[in-house]
Amino acid sequence: MPEQIDRARHSERFEATSGVVIWAALLVALFIPIDLLGEARPGFMSRGAWAVYDGFMHGFQAVAVAIPILARAKFLTLKALAVAFVAGMALDLDHFVLAESVSLADAIAITQRPPTHSLAFAAAVGAVTLLWVRRPLMAWIVTASLAAHVLRDASTWVTPWLNPFRCSTISPVAYYVGIAALAVVPAFVFNYFARRSRERSQALAESEARTN
Ligand SMILES: [Zn+2]
Repeated sequence: MPEQIDRARHSERFEATSGVVIWAALLVALFIPIDLLGEARPGFMSRGAWAVYDGFMHGFQAVAVAIPILARAKFLTLKALAVAFVAGMALDLDHFVLAESVSLADAIAITQRPPTHSLAFAAAVGAVTLLWVRRPLMAWIVTASLAAHVLRDASTWVTPWLNPFRCSTISPVAYYVGIAALAVVPAFVFNYFARRSRERSQALAESEARTN
């Protein structure tokens, strides 16, 4: 019987791990053509249409990055996905702030990405979200959505991603590894702690049953 339980646990662990890894691989495979299209900016795409496409893709990517941890935490709700989508898109509002204009043409004409396009800013917004809503999962979703946005931008054009340190761009490989890690690592960490806590309560229940 304990052997069967062990086998069941191993297969559960394997399915959980392989599911998340496959998801991350699909995420990367899906975004390679999406990013290539964005970079090529074909003739039929005006600058405005390209900005809208790029913004939506940031939101879409943030949702894809958030799904594994939300699924593991059994919190895969429309509200949580909307938070990821909006956070992924909203970072580009800093273009308007830097351009000091509400015009889309001015916002995309700036000569450098704003200092808030950085991982430090993503972490700071996550910390403020945590203090505000007191829900670590939501705070992480906001941080990961902003961080994915920063990595994606840094792979295409000069971005202060490591602000306040000097930095410019990252390689596409670093970007794809980065978004895969943002999707995979939190889900693994969550799995690990959930399993530990389940095993601890099972051990406690077994020892209580023995003493009774
Ligand atoms: Zn951006």
